[in-house]
Amino acid sequence: MAFASPVKQMIFALKEMANYSDLVSSKLWPDLDDSFVETLLNEAAKLADTSIAPLNQSADKAGSILKNGHVSTAPGFKEAYKELVNSSWGTVSGLKDYGGQGLPKTLAVMIQELWNTSCMSFSLCPMLTQGAIEAISHHGTDTQKNEYLPKLLTGEWSGTMNLTEPQAGSDVGALKTSAKRNTDGSYSVKGTKIYITFGEHDMAENIIHLVLARIEGAPEGNNGISLFIVPKYIKNEKSKELEKNDLICIGLEDKLGIHASPTCVMSFGEKSGAKGFLLGEENRGLACMFTMMNNARLNVGMQGVGIAERSLQQSFAYSKERKQGRHYDGSSNNSVNIIEHPDVLKMILKMESLTQASRAICYDNAIAIDLAQNHSDKKIREKYQLKADLLTPISKSWATNVGVEVSSLGIQVHGGMGFIEDTGVAQYYRDSRIAPIYEGTNGIQAIDLVTRKLKISDGLAVKNFLNEIKETSKKCSEKNDNDFITISNNLNDAISEIETCTEKLLEWTKQNKMRSVLFSASDYLELFGITAGSHYLSRGALSESSIDFKSLSARKDLALFFSTQILVNTKALSNSICSTNQNLENFLEDF
Ligand SMILES: Cc1cc2nc3c(=O)[nH]c(=O)nc-3n(C[C@H](O)[C@H](O)[C@H](O)COP(=O)(O)OP(=O)(O)OC[C@H]3O[C@@H](n4cnc5c(N)ncnc54)[C@H](O)[C@@H]3O)c2cc1C
Repeated sequence: MAFASPVKQMIFALKEMANYSDLVSSKLWPDLDDSFVETLLNEAAKLADTSIAPLNQSADKAGSILKNGHVSTAPGFKEAYKELVNSSWGTVSGLKDYGGQGLPKTLAVMIQELWNTSCMSFSLCPMLTQGAIEAISHHGTDTQKNEYLPKLLTGEWSGTMNLTEPQAGSDVGALKTSAKRNTDGSYSVKGTKIYITFGEHDMAENIIHLVLARIEGAPEGNNGISLFIVPKYIKNEKSKELEKNDLICIGLEDKLGIHASPTCVMSFGEKSGAKGFLLGEENRGLACMFTMMNNARLNVGMQGVGIAERSLQQSFAYSKERKQGRHYDGSSNNSVNIIEHPDVLKMILKMESLTQASRAICYDNAIAIDLAQNHSDKKIREKYQLKADLLTPISKSWATNVGVEVSSLGIQVHGGMGFIEDTGVAQYYRDSRIAPIYEGTNGIQAIDLVTRKLKISDGLAVKNFLNEIKETSKKCSEKNDNDFITISNNLNDAISEIETCTEKLLEWTKQNKMRSVLFSASDYLELFGITAGSHYLSRGALSESSIDFKSLSARKDLALFFSTQILVNTKALSNSICSTNQNLENFLEDF
């Protein structure tokens, strides 16, 4: 089935569901207006639809090949990447001083969504590069910015993130890669990193690895970790020529999905040590890496949205053409399109509402990041920072869970054909499955939410966000329409459940009942995610905008569907959280 980037849906989510008006009214980006955004997205969509999306299935079959330390990517990737570089898509939100366009990150995140939707494997290369740009922009010296940012922004050079080692996954502090100071101020990095996305490939002229390592003599654990820039090719100070650094890809992982994204085992410093340059301060590497990871977390959330959209489009089309069975009311003897069956219709509605809701959460998260980083008023910056901090783990986890759920439903809608690889929907499901795992597993995100984010500024982040939802609920209740009143009542109930559970978690935290807090973390995140989802869909339903993608009544129906069929699960989640067994240790002993 021909794929088309969902530009209208994206613009609707940005303008009518998320707080785009806050970006525009801030006047921080004078060029930002409706027609600019539309033109930008339509241009990026052309590249996504015509050059990247057609590679998705063939690249999945071909994968990448490792030979003598060199990785050849799937046929077509090099050419598509060249188009991406030539059209400067990587420069959108980059710093102007280094060749960037200085536009809001929200637009860069939306463009990244287009790459994600068209081919998730391909999208990982520009996504990791954006993370490296972010880290160097925030923590690099002027020399480092001049040296690396211009070519990373264009994409001529790509970036990677090297945290994971066999014994150091979620617990990054357990890493063993070492760094030794050289007399010239550089460092010799030695160690092996695993699972490095696009650690080696043939699409960019150079690969700028950001590597976490421990400087000899540094403390054990998280406080002794530093971050290094370790380029694949490095400038010889005498000849000024680029020569190969002491690093090599020694293996490619065979994976469940994203087959065309090379997941590399990287060996640094097998000979004399890979030459690296400290980024930020010694022993402050994790803080620097988190700058990169927050950007990456939101973009991984967008991968969930992208893969859900892809599966939705194909499944919806299939449900309107596959004929099977008679109409349930016996009105005809002919076979009907399967969407006529209420069970299939419900799956499609679930897929669409989850996809739209997760997109809006991620966009509002991106807007909050932009305003937190750029607004001239400190108080406003702080307000948006609270929101960004709260929404980042939710965007990452909830949207990636949506990606898995929607792509699984997509297989179900296709029946047996869904399980057959040629159809393509099985690939979406396989590809979607990594997103809840990398960039900090969803379990770790949930822990971040209940241990750190709930407490920041004495619970102000949660309170502010719930106030936004209350405002939406109030607007629905004022509509003098039974459907909107149902939506409002259900939103009010969900808000009460969040308030009850938040209190419970904070009480347990004070009592040091951390086992109960952590046991409930993922349920709390889900509770938050679906409530936020309903809030954004309701805003879409309240909008009177005539953006031609769904009628007003269809938008209300979708919000009502989500409210009555999905949001109502908040009651069960809240019950589950509040009745968390205080003797949880028994469960462990039972095994
Ligand atoms: C395809 C792919 C691409 C990747 N790309 C990169 C990359 O580019 N760069 C990079 O550095 N890494 C990369 N990774 C690594 C990825 O980020 C890790 O796999 C991930 O962080 C989880 O670490 P782990 O695999 O060691 O699992 P573990 O940490 O062993 O986790 C196993 C399970 O235990 C849970 N768990 C662990 N610790 C805790 C805790 N304290 N509390 C509660 N639950 C816990 C986890 O949530 C998970 O469910 C990639 C991985 C894959 C598979």
